[in-house]
Amino acid sequence: MGKSTNITWHETTISKTDRRIQNGHGSCVLWFTGLSGSGKSTIANAVSYELYRLGINEYVLDGDNIRHGLNKDLGFSEHDRAENIRRIGEVAKLFVDSGKVVTTAFISPFRSDRDQVRALFEEGEFIEVYIDCPLEECERRDPKQLYAKARRGEIKDFTGIDSPYEAPDNPEIVIHSDKVTVEEAVEQVLHYLREKNII
Ligand code: ADP
Repeated sequence: MGKSTNITWHETTISKTDRRIQNGHGSCVLWFTGLSGSGKSTIANAVSYELYRLGINEYVLDGDNIRHGLNKDLGFSEHDRAENIRRIGEVAKLFVDSGKVVTTAFISPFRSDRDQVRALFEEGEFIEVYIDCPLEECERRDPKQLYAKARRGEIKDFTGIDSPYEAPDNPEIVIHSDKVTVEEAVEQVLHYLREKNII
């Protein structure tokens, strides 16, 4: 990293504040983190649908989709996972600058990677949403049959099986997706956004 030199940051004519005023709402990143199968994508998309319905400018950055394009050169080693999260953090920052409520759905298992992303943002812009679901329940759901593969040794370094998941210390929102419905989870997120006057 740090290879670029002689590059100056240009202030744009239209600022983040201008875009927020035009949109009539704030912008932030809802950073979903949790085990595979915990419900990140499902809840992130349900939140996005509700925001869209309310006329709020939103976007979802989803793990698998980003790995098909922007990050297709990256694997699952510790270095590549860190780089994956770093790039997504930078992209999320651009979306927040553009005035949107951006939702990201990535396992993002390492606390230090998530904290580095948090550090890119201004106070209150980075909202960590921990989808807390016991491994046994995630494995029972196994929507993509990935746990089954990992147990058979066909996937290495799988989070929860042979690679660690570091739960957030102080997430802004915790959703117990084994205890609440998707609708209740959405309401929890929207309640937070309203309470903080973001929407
Ligand atoms: P992740 O993105 O975390 O890997 P997914 O959203 O792809 O997880 O998969 C979660 C699975 O769990 C889906 O099949 C979803 O329908 C199911 N599920 C059951 N109950 C819930 C709940 N309360 N919240 C979220 N997902 C749930």
